[in-house]
Amino acid sequence: MAKEEDEDKLPDQDAAKEFYAKYEPKEILGRGISSTVRRCIEKETGKEFAAKIIDLSNDSSDGITAKEATKQEIAILRHVAGHQYIIELQDVFESPTFIFLVFELCRHGELFDYLTSVVTLSEKKTRYIMRQILEGVFHIHSRGIVHRDLKPENILLDDNLNVKITDFGFAKKLAEGEMVHELCGTPGYLAPETLKCNMVEDAPGCSFEVDVWACGVIMYTLLVGCPPFWHRKQMIMLRNIMEGKYSFTSPEWADISEPPKDLIRRLLVVDPKQRITLEDALAHPFFHTMKLQQRKFQARQKFQWAILVVRAMVRLQRIKFTPEPLSLETARTDPYRIKLLRKVVDGCAFRVYGHWVKKGEGQNRAALFENTPKTELKHIYVTNLSR
Ligand code: ADP
Ligand code: MG
Repeated sequence: MAKEEDEDKLPDQDAAKEFYAKYEPKEILGRGISSTVRRCIEKETGKEFAAKIIDLSNDSSDGITAKEATKQEIAILRHVAGHQYIIELQDVFESPTFIFLVFELCRHGELFDYLTSVVTLSEKKTRYIMRQILEGVFHIHSRGIVHRDLKPENILLDDNLNVKITDFGFAKKLAEGEMVHELCGTPGYLAPETLKCNMVEDAPGCSFEVDVWACGVIMYTLLVGCPPFWHRKQMIMLRNIMEGKYSFTSPEWADISEPPKDLIRRLLVVDPKQRITLEDALAHPFFHTMKLQQRKFQARQKFQWAILVVRAMVRLQRIKFTPEPLSLETARTDPYRIKLLRKVVDGCAFRVYGHWVKKGEGQNRAALFENTPKTELKHIYVTNLSR
C-alpha cells in the first residue's frame, strides 16, 4: 500500500504550490479513472478535508476533456450545495495540468465499504440511510440536476454515519422537459430507459427517473447484500434490467417485512412514467413504520427507564438511612429542622444550658434557640454589652 502511494507522485506546480501552502496532503482515500482522493489537513486550522486531485495531463483535444468535465462538476457541486446530505465543496485550485477539489472529509468512507463490513443492513438501518439518500436526491432534482451515477461507492458516510452524496462527474442540469440519450453510469445501476437509448433507435431518452431506479437498486442491495440484477454474464444482467427481472426469493428475504419489498417494487418499475416519485417514496409506509416502531420499542430508552426505576426503588428502601438534603436557607433560618445540625445544636445547647435543661421533662429544646442565655451568664453578657 505504501509502495503504491509512493508511486503516486504528487503534482508540484503553480496551483499545486498554492494548494500545498494551505493544505498538507496525507494518505489516499479513494481513486477514480483520472483522480486520486487524499485526506489532507488545513495547516492554519488543523481541520481535516478530502482533496480530489484530477490529472489533466492525458487530456486530448477531441471529445469532452477532463478539464471541461471537472469544471462542469464544480458548477453542479456549487449549484446543489447547502444540503445536509450533499457533499460540501470547500475549495478549488486550478492549474493547466491539475485541478484540486477540497471537500469536507467523510471519515467513514463509502456506504459500499460499510455494507461490505456488515454484509447486510437491518430494516431499521436501511430506513435511516434510504430516507437520507431519497431526501438528498430530492434536493438535487429540485435544483434541476440529475445525478446519473448513484451507487453505494458514491454515497459517503460522515462521523455520525449520515449520508453525503458525492461524485457529480456524470451529473447534468436538465432544462424543463429535457431528455438525455447518452449512456453513462455504472452497469448494475443503469435504468432500463438508459439502456434502451442505446439499443432502440427512437427511444424517448431518460430523465430524473434514472436516479429513482438507482435508489431501488441501492435499497435492495442494502437489505440483502447483493444487487437485484447481478449476473456473471453482463449481457444477461443488462437483459434482466431491461425486463425488470429480479426476485425476493433468496432466503434472506424471508425475514424481511412487506413494506420495504413494496417500496422496492415501486422504485424498480421499468416504465419511468409509472415509477414512484421521490415525494411518494418518502411518504411510503416503509418510512411511517419508523415512527410507529420508535414508539413501540426503543431498546436504549427502555433500558435507561428501567435503570431509573430500580434506582428509585433502592432509594425508597434506604430512605431512613439517607441523610436529609442540606438547604443553606433552612440552615440559616431554622437550623434545628435539619437532623444533622440538630445534633450539633443540641451539643452546643448542652454546653450553655445543660445544667438546667431537664431531660425527660418534655422540654422543647428548640425553644432554647430563642437566645435566652442561662441566668448566671446573663449579667456577664449584659455588662459586656454596656461597656
Ligand atoms: P470519481 O469521480 O473518480 O469516482 P469520487 O468523487 O467518487 O471520484 O471519489 C473517489 C473515491 O474517493 C470515493 O469513492 C471515496 O472512496 C473517496 N472519497 C471521495 N470524496 C471523499 C470525501 N469527501 N471523504 C472521504 N472519502 C472520499
Ligand atoms: Mg466515484
